[in-house]
Amino acid sequence: MPDKKQVSKVESEHPMISVPDAIRMILTETAKHLVTNPSGQTETKAIEDAINEVLEKAVLMPEPGYPPYCASIMDGYCIRTSQTFTPGDKWTHYVVDKVYAGDEREYIHDESTPGKELPLAFYVTTGAKVPDSFDCVIPVEDVLVDPDAGRGDGDVQRIAILKMPPKIGQWIRPVGCDMPPESVVLPSGHVVDSISLGLLKQCGMTHIQVRKKVRVGILSTGNELVLGKWDLQADGRQGKIPDVNRPVLCQMLQQLGLCHVVDLGVCRDDDPTAMTDAIQSALDTCEVILTTGGISMGETDIVENVLVQNLGGTLHFGRLHMKPGKPSTFVTIPVGSKSRFVFALPGNPVSAFVCSHLLVRPCLQLLYEGLDASVDTHGISVDQTVLHIADNTTLTPPEIMALLAHDIPLDSERPEYHRVRLKFQPERNAWLATSTGNQRSSCLMSLRDADALLALPQGLSNRPIALAGESFPALLLKEHFVPKSTFSKSRHLDKKCVRSFLVDIIVIGKATLVEDINARVKHALEGSRSGSIVISSEREYLGAIEGLYDFVTEGSEADLHVVIGANHKGSFATNTAAARHLEKRLLKVADAMALQMRRAAAVQSPYAALFETIVGLVRDRPGALLLFVSPHGLEGGLSNVRSLIKHAIETSRGNNHAHRQPVNQVKSNQTKSLLSKIC
Ligand code: AMP
Ligand code: MG
Repeated sequence: MPDKKQVSKVESEHPMISVPDAIRMILTETAKHLVTNPSGQTETKAIEDAINEVLEKAVLMPEPGYPPYCASIMDGYCIRTSQTFTPGDKWTHYVVDKVYAGDEREYIHDESTPGKELPLAFYVTTGAKVPDSFDCVIPVEDVLVDPDAGRGDGDVQRIAILKMPPKIGQWIRPVGCDMPPESVVLPSGHVVDSISLGLLKQCGMTHIQVRKKVRVGILSTGNELVLGKWDLQADGRQGKIPDVNRPVLCQMLQQLGLCHVVDLGVCRDDDPTAMTDAIQSALDTCEVILTTGGISMGETDIVENVLVQNLGGTLHFGRLHMKPGKPSTFVTIPVGSKSRFVFALPGNPVSAFVCSHLLVRPCLQLLYEGLDASVDTHGISVDQTVLHIADNTTLTPPEIMALLAHDIPLDSERPEYHRVRLKFQPERNAWLATSTGNQRSSCLMSLRDADALLALPQGLSNRPIALAGESFPALLLKEHFVPKSTFSKSRHLDKKCVRSFLVDIIVIGKATLVEDINARVKHALEGSRSGSIVISSEREYLGAIEGLYDFVTEGSEADLHVVIGANHKGSFATNTAAARHLEKRLLKVADAMALQMRRAAAVQSPYAALFETIVGLVRDRPGALLLFVSPHGLEGGLSNVRSLIKHAIETSRGNNHAHRQPVNQVKSNQTKSLLSKIC
């Protein structure tokens, strides 16, 4: 008999690291791989198979545009406006033929038949091709039809147009009027949806190029897993279980829309050679591999050895300070110049699922989305770029704060990701979290109704229980989990949300690329929760620097003035002079915010470090901000302070509505609170 005490002392040699640190490590390794292997890989797909995929290359409308023929918008009669007739006369036109939508024959009418005394018309239905040389459609509603004509043989229909002088092009959709040739139908980066399908059809496209999905292999390990049909009674009595992790994880990861899942089957846990071979061959095709089971401290837990010793992997962490999922292990294995990412997760189904959400998903998302093209890595070391990516990521699951509906005892050793149901309580304007019950990591039922993982801290002797009413972050598990508040408090009916940010862009000097600069400003200011940004004016300033501030602010309604320093020879001196001038005229400069912008701009473009950045409040116009930046690193700088800008403007706007104080008073009260936020 082994000495019990001795057995219980067997501990992993790996340090127990926190989940945030683990995510940073994963993203750092992923970013390193991306920096050295810029992907940009695409695949061609039939449009019907490309729903939810990201378009790699913009789709332009081919010749002749859409619609490709002149189409009638109404059921009516097409005529030629050049032919004279008097509206309201007894009869104005002969109807010589009928054109229905989809008719394939060419309509050539013979001017000689029948009588020439009236101009000719064709009856057309909605969507029909208007015959060449006809330039106007009169709807049936505006036409009187001869009741006697058209009955006998050779009898020709006559009509009288009752109203109007007809206009050229009336009720006709000309060629290319919906989408002219060469126009951008879908921009690159667009996520293909049902409307995209329609547009692609109208372009005559059957296949498109989309961003390539990450290939993820999923392998279960353990001799207790039954490969084929599992018999609850017979197999169950033998201590065998069904393989739950593979189907669950395959489905879950597939649904993320980031990867192609490759089913790697099941490996025995008493045959390291077979397991090594299975993973080795998966490394050829899969960028990411997930294994479950065999990663703890037992005698059959062979996965770590297989990955590190047999396959030459580097272990980044082997134990996490979390519950469930403590033994989770992350290894990278080099294959040529590339890294393969292996997540060896514990076998208990709840641990495997929770860890896939927390750890695997950010890696897949970064691999799929690739490096942010707007980040200019020129002149920055690989290490700095990697750090920047890992620091600025927002790839963790979406999160809301939720109040506990009841007490939950805290685990005294590890923070816990407690599975909860969420319910919105309108009277408290808050989300209420209720435990799904038994939280054992083997108990898959704890995930059945779970909407989120509630991040509970480790219990302490003076705080052993999370109390009802306390608030904790809830990491949302369900992508389609639409917060009910969006229904009860419709955002689109909220006036404050509807009002846009008016942005005024002023470029000092003759700007050769005004359009480009505007697009860059807009792109940088539009975040996922941006509301609407409206570029309300785009101006060039060609005058003397002394007049710049007045030019920018006088008569403007804008919430934000983005003044962009010159980008030409001698621009350095001009920009410095402009910065000094604006600094003097602004009500108060916000140095901290300016510094933050300049740093971020310099990450994008090292030249930004040479130029001044000024942020400040516009005198006498509470809530209006002015930013002075150079064109270098423009997007980096602006996007870095995006939320701060909006917050400052919104706060000040709210105060404006509420108080309506005289300007000077508003200035002193409001400015104080604003400045404390942004300076
Ligand atoms: P392990 O991580 O191998 O120590 O396994 C922990 C627990 O998870 C054991 O009770 C295993 O039987 C169970 N388990 C391992 N792999 C799976 C799987 N693929 N599906 C369901 N349960 C599993
Ligand atoms: Mg096992």
